[in-house]
Amino acid sequence: MSGIPGITLKGIEALPVEVEVEITGGLFAISIVGLPDVAVRESKERVRAALRSLGLNLKGRISVNLAPADIPKEGGLLDVPIALGMLQANGYLKDYPRALYMGELALDGRLRRVRGAVPAAFLAREMGVPLYLPSENAEEVALVPGVEAYCADNLGELVMTLQGEEPPQPVPPAFIPEMPVNADPDFADIKGQRQARRAAEIAAAGHHNLLLVGSPGSGKTMIAKAIAGILPPLNDTELVETLLVRSTLGMDTKPTRIRPFRIVHFTASTVSVCGGGNNLMPGEVSLAHRGVLFLDEYTEFKRDLTESLRAPVEDGTITVSRATGTVSYPSRVLLVLAANPCACGYHGDPVINCKCSPTDIERYRRKLSGPIIDRIDLQVQVPRLTPSELLALGGKEEPQESSAVIRERVINARKMQEDRWREYGLTCNAEIPEKLVKRCLVLSEADRDYLAMMAAKMNLSGRGLSRVLKVSRTIADIAGDEDIQKKHIAEALTYRQLYGRG
Ligand SMILES: [Zn+2]
Repeated sequence: MSGIPGITLKGIEALPVEVEVEITGGLFAISIVGLPDVAVRESKERVRAALRSLGLNLKGRISVNLAPADIPKEGGLLDVPIALGMLQANGYLKDYPRALYMGELALDGRLRRVRGAVPAAFLAREMGVPLYLPSENAEEVALVPGVEAYCADNLGELVMTLQGEEPPQPVPPAFIPEMPVNADPDFADIKGQRQARRAAEIAAAGHHNLLLVGSPGSGKTMIAKAIAGILPPLNDTELVETLLVRSTLGMDTKPTRIRPFRIVHFTASTVSVCGGGNNLMPGEVSLAHRGVLFLDEYTEFKRDLTESLRAPVEDGTITVSRATGTVSYPSRVLLVLAANPCACGYHGDPVINCKCSPTDIERYRRKLSGPIIDRIDLQVQVPRLTPSELLALGGKEEPQESSAVIRERVINARKMQEDRWREYGLTCNAEIPEKLVKRCLVLSEADRDYLAMMAAKMNLSGRGLSRVLKVSRTIADIAGDEDIQKKHIAEALTYRQLYGRG
């Protein structure tokens, strides 16, 4: 007796499971062994009803064995292979292709969408076998390159296909609609704030982490949110990576090249942001993979949460563990933080006086330090405009650049980066590892001396120095310049003199 191959999930990874069914005489009973969870036990009822819809009434003692026994299995992913195993054991299914089968059954035999189709497609490709899955999952696997996948609407249709009575339905090629980017707010609506606008553009172009510090009403939250509208589109590889996370969570997997933009509130739990919980699910930091994770009112976040973000922000992956196991999720995020300059919010404000004592200010500055702040490439002040500045701006009605214009520059700068770093498997300047910084970000002797002098003056750490170089590279890319020049370095240095250890 050979088993029907199915899958189970461990994080964003699909693992193969063999479903073996044996039927002996006696009173009707179904037992499922091999560490099934509640959902697998419930699948008994679904499978039985779905088979009845095909006209098969199960009889006898049926034992279902899910192998290997030592890995936990979950969800309705195994309904289809269990049903096929029962059909096989009853002699209704003889030959069937060597493949992976997945899907949850409705009581009437329909195949329901399951989570994990994208990881399953990766596994099928690795094993060199086709994947059979519910039609509702077709769209998400269509983007996985090199996978052979077939879909079916219901169990009856799947069985006819496997018996060769119906041609298999290949997953149609992916169609990625050109969705307009939602620039809301649009940079055209943001008054003044030349430096913060520029920093936002550099952040989007090179995927650099950004800190915006300003009083309430300065527009820092608006600037942070406007970044969503200037991000470059996801490339094919990045698109599949983001689908992998969403598919694992069973979320909407409509393919889109729009980068994720996730806002986290300071009341959020560490599990919801970093991932974990009973099912070792990915958190916001993984949902924001290849996009933006925005933490507004950063100083209000609990220390243990920000400490937990250090590794994923630095490494681009996050490992979550529990008694049930350890899984890794991708987490290459562009981190955007917004914070007030002091506890009362008005330190350095042109109009309202700050009520904080020097001790208060010192205590507050300590909140704006630590491992996350040390990993911010761009730090800018977002001062509130004075009434006269606002009037002057309003009077002149000087049109500000729109998000669409800025995004064009960002896209061109990102293209230069993709071409430059392709051979290293990287996509943007923020990802450049330390060893490549020295080898690939070369300066003229005069510029090197200038940077060394400034680094000493500003007390920059070695890591801080690398960050300046990477940002300089992005500034040069936005300008379309082949080499990093002094003006690019000088500008990059203006974004690094506020908080943390540099
Ligand atoms: Zn204050």
